[in-house]
Amino acid sequence: MRILVTGGAGFIGSHLIDKLIAQEHEVLCLDNFYTGDKRNITKWLNQPNFELIRHDVTEPIRLEIDQIYHLACPASPVHYQFNPIKTLKTSMLGTMNMLGLAKRVKARILMASTSEVYGDPEVHPQSEEYWGHVNCTGIRSCYDEGKRVAETLCFDYHREHQVDIRVARIFNTYGPRMLENDGRVVSNFVVQALKGIPLTIYGDGSQTRSFCYVSDLVEGLMRLMNGDYIGPVNLGNPGEYTILELAQKIQSLVNPSAELVYKPLPQDDPKQRKPDISKAQKYLNWQPTILLDQGLDLTISDFKARLAK
Ligand code: NAD
Ligand code: UDP
Repeated sequence: MRILVTGGAGFIGSHLIDKLIAQEHEVLCLDNFYTGDKRNITKWLNQPNFELIRHDVTEPIRLEIDQIYHLACPASPVHYQFNPIKTLKTSMLGTMNMLGLAKRVKARILMASTSEVYGDPEVHPQSEEYWGHVNCTGIRSCYDEGKRVAETLCFDYHREHQVDIRVARIFNTYGPRMLENDGRVVSNFVVQALKGIPLTIYGDGSQTRSFCYVSDLVEGLMRLMNGDYIGPVNLGNPGEYTILELAQKIQSLVNPSAELVYKPLPQDDPKQRKPDISKAQKYLNWQPTILLDQGLDLTISDFKARLAK
């Protein structure tokens, strides 16, 4: 198949492309390199079944393809809050353009939504039936509301124009290739521990997250794309940890003498997050296989190698 991956030079997108190339698909990687890195895809540049397109999804584009994995959007709060209006445009106009493309060429489109559609959830764990608790004027809303609109667009294009959609609600995912300055918690703690500087815990560290290793997530995305269930479906690892527990784990794995420092909790930071993955188990026969300790080991080795260069 000819498969378009928007955001393909980014963290998840590049891991997905590795899998698609291994399956001998023809892959078109589209990226504007906002948070993407050419090094994530350099190894495929001379491969005849790989094509790189520098393009911004907020502008329309005409391509002939069979499937679209629509991942283009900054995912770290640091990067999506840097230019919040652009983040909204990326989710709204970008998703509309990709749905228009899917409609024109009758391609199937999978949109990478997020657990952030649940906001600061009052229901725990979060199942797909929960409508969420999002502050629509806060600093996270450019991302949260952008993704909520992106989901609405998918379902309206599906109802009105029969576009063949798949919607994945991705929970916190980590692994090799996260940017050193990504700003998300796993990469921050690993880089800080490796550099021997204090690990920055925002708030008192009692807030929780559930961390999914990237290869598990990619497997879930591909099962969703190639199955019959359109979603929305949660993809994440139900293992739940406080941020303090995560810091202590990384501290003990990398550098037991690394200090922990406490910084202010950002506005609207969700207090708890854990996916109910019964739908993914039932409809995709999917569940994560990599334990946090294993995934952290792989991530730490990758950062160690990159920081040594
Ligand atoms: P990332 O920042 O590494 O990748 C995003 C990619 O999209 C980058 O390569 C970036 O350059 C590109 N991009 C951004 N805006 C663009 C635009 N306007 N036009 C073209 N390209 C653009 O993030 P990631 O972690 O790989 O996330 C990928 C997708 O998964 C995102 O849509 C994100 O919202 C979603 N997601 C990720 C997580 C996670 O924990 N990693 C959780 C929930 C949802
Ligand atoms: N966090 C932290 N220290 C950091 C980066 C993040 O304590 O250096 C916290 C952050 O406040 C949040 C959690 O870790 O409670 C996860 O943050 P991240 O940005 O990775 O993802 P998100 O908040 O979008 O789930």
